Amino acid sequence: MSFQDLGLKPELVRAVAEQGYDAPTPIQAAAIPAVLAGRDVLAAAQTGTGKTAAFVLPLLERLGSPVSGAPRTLVLTPTRELAAQVAASATGYGRHLALRTVVIFGGVSERPQIEALRRGCDLLVATPGRLLDLAQQRVLDLRAVRCLVLDEADRMLDMGFIHAIRQILRLLPQERQSLLFSATYTEEIRALAARMLRAPLAIDVAPRNAAAERIEQQVYRVPREQKRHLLAQLIREGAWQQVLLFTRTKHGANRLTEQLLGAGIQAAAIHGNKSQNARVRALTDFKEGRLTVLVATEVAARGLDIKELPHVVNYELPNVPEDYVHRIGRTARAGQHGVAVSLVAPEEAELLRDIERLLGHSLEVMPLPALVPQSPERREAAHGLAHRPWRAPSHRPARPRHAPPLARARKRV
Ligand code: AMP
Repeated sequence: MSFQDLGLKPELVRAVAEQGYDAPTPIQAAAIPAVLAGRDVLAAAQTGTGKTAAFVLPLLERLGSPVSGAPRTLVLTPTRELAAQVAASATGYGRHLALRTVVIFGGVSERPQIEALRRGCDLLVATPGRLLDLAQQRVLDLRAVRCLVLDEADRMLDMGFIHAIRQILRLLPQERQSLLFSATYTEEIRALAARMLRAPLAIDVAPRNAAAERIEQQVYRVPREQKRHLLAQLIREGAWQQVLLFTRTKHGANRLTEQLLGAGIQAAAIHGNKSQNARVRALTDFKEGRLTVLVATEVAARGLDIKELPHVVNYELPNVPEDYVHRIGRTARAGQHGVAVSLVAPEEAELLRDIERLLGHSLEVMPLPALVPQSPERREAAHGLAHRPWRAPSHRPARPRHAPPLARARKRV
């Protein structure tokens, strides 16, 4: 197969030949005809597969004659380095066309970028933060965008860009073609794809990453007032060592941290009201094993670099279902096994339904361990922690890390 066979115009075929490419790579052979036909694409492809040309070539073709006004094609990348690379590729492949490419990213002065946008472009390559800044300042009009590419989408999500991406999606016209490229294919990517792509062609040239499948997702249905007791029990019984826990509010994070400390569980909170110093210290203590639980709000946890977390706990479910997927994506990295536990109160049932709808499957509901009373009436009967003051277990030997969580407790249910 040749580039010509893929339906590219002579100017592009010539530019590709000048780059010394003999034949399209597998991802190019699959993606180029689909993009030319106007289809959305979901591609699992790593760097080195030729993914950049796989979207840049057909998008240059689809741009047609130059207009050089507001951008008509937008490529989002996680980093400025990648933005610069993609823009350089577009300029290279487009050398026999008169289309204009502009690149914008953060960390440098806005001025020259604003000037470049004023002069107009056809293709815009951008990192999400700077793009939003300029769009909010109204120096950038996104209403003419007909094609959107998210390149290295998994890295964008890792870097905490999900909210920026969502905001950008709202600024773009509904009627558009969208392409999503990602090296890994996690539940979080699937969720993003479900939101932004229409009947996409799925292309998979990367070895499928099994991380998502390694996350065990568990739900405990528990009244709100019993959550802290159940949590302490899960941590103790399962001998959990490193738990990233999400609460909805800063106040809730503080209160829970106090309660955990009172129960003899080492914990610290990180949120917007904490000084940078306190946050760094908490994170270091957590990474180095001096803290068992790091209590975080959504915003504070964004961009946290904690790899290979064994446990993520949703103390409260997030309001936005995608945040759930992002939260649990912090466990089971690098091929590790991870457990994501959600404590769901009756009033959160609706949120749980939304999450399950987004995931496309329901979550496993775990039986409540016997020590936690399941309803106020049963409280009397249960030998519950709920009635006892919270104390650290003084003489209980630590269980090995691999002990099956709650195995003993569950037998008594
Ligand atoms: P990418 O995966 O987009 O980062 O591209 C990886 C490298 O492969 C880049 O240096 C491209 O110039 C090169 N490349 C892309 N397509 C082809 C092709 N069809 N034949 C040979 N090299 C290619």
